[in-house]
Amino acid sequence: MSVLITNISELVTNAPGEADSVASPGPFEAIADAAIVLDGGLVAWAGLAAEAPAADEVVDAAGRAVLPGFVDSHAHLVFAGERGAEFAARMAGLPYGAGGIRSTVAATRAASDDVLRANLARLAGEMLAQGTTTFECKSGYGLTVADEARAVALAGEVTPEVTYLGAHVVPPEFDGRTAAYIDLVCGEMLAACAPSAKWVDVFCEDGAFGADEARAVLAAGEAAGLQPRIHANQLGPGPGVQVAVEAGAAAADHCTFLSDADVEALAASGGTVATLLPGVEFSTRSPYPDARRLLSAGVTVAIATDCNPGSCFTSSMPLCVALAVREMRMTTAEAVWAATAGGARALRRTDVGHLGVGAQADLIMLDAPSHAYLAYRPGVPLIAGVWRSGGRIV
Ligand SMILES: [Zn+2]
Repeated sequence: MSVLITNISELVTNAPGEADSVASPGPFEAIADAAIVLDGGLVAWAGLAAEAPAADEVVDAAGRAVLPGFVDSHAHLVFAGERGAEFAARMAGLPYGAGGIRSTVAATRAASDDVLRANLARLAGEMLAQGTTTFECKSGYGLTVADEARAVALAGEVTPEVTYLGAHVVPPEFDGRTAAYIDLVCGEMLAACAPSAKWVDVFCEDGAFGADEARAVLAAGEAAGLQPRIHANQLGPGPGVQVAVEAGAAAADHCTFLSDADVEALAASGGTVATLLPGVEFSTRSPYPDARRLLSAGVTVAIATDCNPGSCFTSSMPLCVALAVREMRMTTAEAVWAATAGGARALRRTDVGHLGVGAQADLIMLDAPSHAYLAYRPGVPLIAGVWRSGGRIV
């Protein structure tokens, strides 16, 4: 059954031209006084409302804006426990380090499958209600062969974008034996996780893993059929971005502390997206990455939540868009593009993040006339409707 949504004040398509034949996300594009037709789970037509074809069902948008569903390309959702007290202590002046991850590891190992599954379902539901129709989900709070295999299997129940992050931190039982842990991550643990994952990731940072360790993890993952992505340059300058570009990673995530050489490498990479996670800087009271510097250099920028119980426990892409505009000097169009088409690029997806003909019919309707309201009205629940694969869910 086809659905025509008409009387749309602004239809953000991220699809060039009149959206006749679009195979992948283009630059930010929007059509005023628009309509869109969904059929068979895909976008069948998009253009001026006055020229819209007939359909089986008609939805009147009543002057609201319609956008592609958000693509959140960075989230850690398989965990148990919470760290509200750690957050409160941080806001009272304690610094954020990578060590707090261990408390989540202990809680996650102790949790039943049902507890993890229920937590995952709750967070996935939160995301959907806030307009996120595609999201990535990492392991990384198990850090044993069995617990990491369980994490990627559970993640695969809620998304196809599953990332193996055995190299999140060195678990306590491997204290002082990082090389032995890397052997496990690249060996038995990888073999147990690769069948359930699409991506391999590593936290390349002081206090986590160095450049050679990160290279080894990504290379082993690739040999097992996984595609590389990386946590890089979050807490200070480091080699992560260079490792990402060398490895042909789909994305280097965080990118908070970059040298000129890092920016140049990303711009010249031809395929490594800089994924900025402004919720982390908000939640750790840290300096934001310089999005303008990246955009000016021609780097492809995505925005994602990094939803996790430690450094940033938001699942809200609208919040991240607002932060990107207010705190990282992105325009509203740049931020919305980065949260949709940019996220799709970071996941190497051509079927989401845009509303060109043939795209997956994943879209959101705002209770507002334009995309700018996501930043103009921060904190206000503006998601009036969500469609995924052509079906209305919210
Ligand atoms: Zn992360």
